[in-house]
Amino acid sequence: MQLGEVSRERFNPARPDELVSVTPAGDAATAADAVVSATAAQRAWAARTGPERGAVLMRAGEILASRADLVATDLVREEGKTLAEATGEVHRAANVLRFFGSACWQADGETLPSSAPGTHVYTRREPLGVVGVITPWNFPLAIPTWKIAPALAVGNAVVVKPAQLTPLSVWHLADCLSAAGLPSGVLNVVFGSGSVVGEAIVADPDVSAVSFTGSSAVGARIAAVAAQRNCRVQLEMGGKNPLVVLDDADPAVAADIASAGAFGLTGQACTATSRVIVTPGVRHALTENLVRAAARFQPGDGLNPATTMGPVVSAGQLTTHREFLSTALAEGNQLVCGYEEPVGLFEHAMVVTGVGRKNTLAQEEVFGPLLAVMTVEDLDEAIAVANDVAYGLSAGIVTNDLRAAQHFVGHAEAGVVKVNRPTTGLDLNVPFGGIKASSSNTYREQGLGALDFYSWTKSVYLGV
Ligand code: NAP
Ligand code: MG
Repeated sequence: MQLGEVSRERFNPARPDELVSVTPAGDAATAADAVVSATAAQRAWAARTGPERGAVLMRAGEILASRADLVATDLVREEGKTLAEATGEVHRAANVLRFFGSACWQADGETLPSSAPGTHVYTRREPLGVVGVITPWNFPLAIPTWKIAPALAVGNAVVVKPAQLTPLSVWHLADCLSAAGLPSGVLNVVFGSGSVVGEAIVADPDVSAVSFTGSSAVGARIAAVAAQRNCRVQLEMGGKNPLVVLDDADPAVAADIASAGAFGLTGQACTATSRVIVTPGVRHALTENLVRAAARFQPGDGLNPATTMGPVVSAGQLTTHREFLSTALAEGNQLVCGYEEPVGLFEHAMVVTGVGRKNTLAQEEVFGPLLAVMTVEDLDEAIAVANDVAYGLSAGIVTNDLRAAQHFVGHAEAGVVKVNRPTTGLDLNVPFGGIKASSSNTYREQGLGALDFYSWTKSVYLGV
């Protein structure tokens, strides 16, 4: 970590006077220095045995878990989620470290029959070298962890640039890895803006691959810069995730599933439910239940145990929500709950009905607690509407009709499809990623398959 002359202050979104962190604002030279330091450290790290690297990751997981209260509190203070949500994220990150730590002990590679006599053929997984990691603010601990852990497991060194809004969580992660014995230089944290520091990492010829999570617009820019030097990229981006509710569904159950997906994490999740697509028989009952369910999300300071929804992350994000709401009303949609003007950054859970298939709220990612309700005639139209967006991250259906559920699973254009479960919430051992504008869709994150992005396969012929 290098201290530059310019620094950036982050204040608590729930308590605007409370300073949470001061971080140096790096520049292109800071990023270049970090790549040099990573390059110098990488070979020795890769030369360690898998179990040695795994032991460091496992220890880091234990250390992070032992600091869960402190790290979760800081996560609430810098990002704004509730303490329960933040605590879940910390334990998730600890488990990700344990998972990839234990992966270092697993069998890997293949033994293959050779056409030549006396020849032993097998494959080895090789690290890429230095990997760049660029992350968003909404899961400021879990996302960096689920990129950095598999990268380190395979023997890479990492340069990570966290979002400027949430630098402290990555600092905690780096501190846990350092305390666990990760050698100096193997993980390098660079603070600063995406357009300067992020872009310098992507353009650096000594960075072998870049894993990015964030908006589709920034992802497209990173893909373009990386393509100029044939650099491997993994892009996980936005969503406009649908939840289809069919006539046979229990409206109270469907509203619970929809509201958990739409308003949990203040709606600031890439897999958040942002469209409920409902058939006519259940529409009225579902809307009534949605209004009731939305009222259970009471905005407040995430450190207050009574709070069920934290503040929006920033004033800029709040302005974006309000602009989307104004556009929706101008397009003839109706706001049925969440009327209050926000106080500070405390937004209310909003449900908007009468949203047409080509309306702005049907098409564009809001990334806040604003749920669009759309009515369709039947399952076929529901699937057509669900797929009629640029994105394809997560999709859900609520029904007890197994045939309908299977049809939806087969036809939904989304990397994750859920039946009778919220569109949010994913297991760390299950492949995760989108299609269409949601993802570069070349490699999946999470699960053992995550190792593939951070490595290449060498085929070895061993003659005797
Ligand atoms: P963002 O604005 O795209 O920023 C993401 C990261 O990219 C930040 O660290 C940002 O730096 C950096 N960046 C910006 N411009 C860059 C450039 N030209 N070159 C390199 N890096 C650059 O996203 P966000 O607002 O932080 O997060 C919200 C978005 O993330 C939503 O669209 C959401 O759907 C998506 N997301 C997707 C997933 C998934 O797994 N699919 C998960 C979570 C979130 P700054 O510090 O300057 O902002
Ligand atoms: Mg952004």
